[in-house]
Amino acid sequence: MVNRAKKDGRPVDAGDLAAEALPGTLPPGGMPAIAMFHSVSPHDEDPYLVTVTPERFDRQMRWLRRRGLRGVSVGELMAASRHGAGRELIGLTFDDGYADFIEYALPVLARYGFGGTVFPIAGRLGGLNDWDALGPRKPLMSADQVRKAADAGIEIGSHGLRHISLPGLAEAVLAAEAAESRAILTEMTGRDVTGFCYPYGHIDASSVTAVQQAGYSYGCAIWRSASTGPHALPRVYVGEADGSLRLWAKGARHWLAWDYRGPGAARLSRITASGGRNRPDDPPIGIQQLT
Ligand SMILES: [Zn+2]
Repeated sequence: MVNRAKKDGRPVDAGDLAAEALPGTLPPGGMPAIAMFHSVSPHDEDPYLVTVTPERFDRQMRWLRRRGLRGVSVGELMAASRHGAGRELIGLTFDDGYADFIEYALPVLARYGFGGTVFPIAGRLGGLNDWDALGPRKPLMSADQVRKAADAGIEIGSHGLRHISLPGLAEAVLAAEAAESRAILTEMTGRDVTGFCYPYGHIDASSVTAVQQAGYSYGCAIWRSASTGPHALPRVYVGEADGSLRLWAKGARHWLAWDYRGPGAARLSRITASGGRNRPDDPPIGIQQLT
């Protein structure tokens, strides 16, 4: 064990520490746990590390369920969190709105009774992911497929109009990316669109303000930053290489950094204390290019 703090003259193990530091309730305003996926599909090449196979995805969902966690949309997670509930919930997000979500991810989510949030790009529906220079090209959901996902209970959020990095853009362009994409997806699905996802995870104060002013109740980023909060939520990247322990440990590092008080806190603490942590070369392989 790494942690050798003493208490009353005896070694304190990580479980004791967790019981002290993590009293077991996710407080209102606490940092919710959100996993970030992109494409779920069989694949041969994946230079941007945005694809997990359906088999891997199934194992990852099974792993969550076995630990008493339930995958939900970020909207549901935030609503529960506001009321001090949701300890057993983890947000599942799918950036870009790949068409493979319908064929491969949706059946797995349904099998486990999980939900999630898909972030399509409102101005690229039915198009391709041609912002990734190296390919491979992947089809994006059509309007019909977005509606199909919404009808299946999946939350639809916005990933902007064109998949462009927002920081540094003129105010009017920012407003269009945030507000017009929301209007398009709201009209398309007949449902309120309350979540935004920043392309590439890039944010600055102006882009966060634009998202707030467009009426979104939350925004998904990737990294922790000065803007971190309901409109710039950090997320945990999950890729094909993430076996169950690495997935768990990655969450532990992320969530404990936010004074995590949710499910399995004591176990998380034990795992991190015993070295089940990210390897130095772990996630940010090209993560700046992740979408
Ligand atoms: Zn993206």
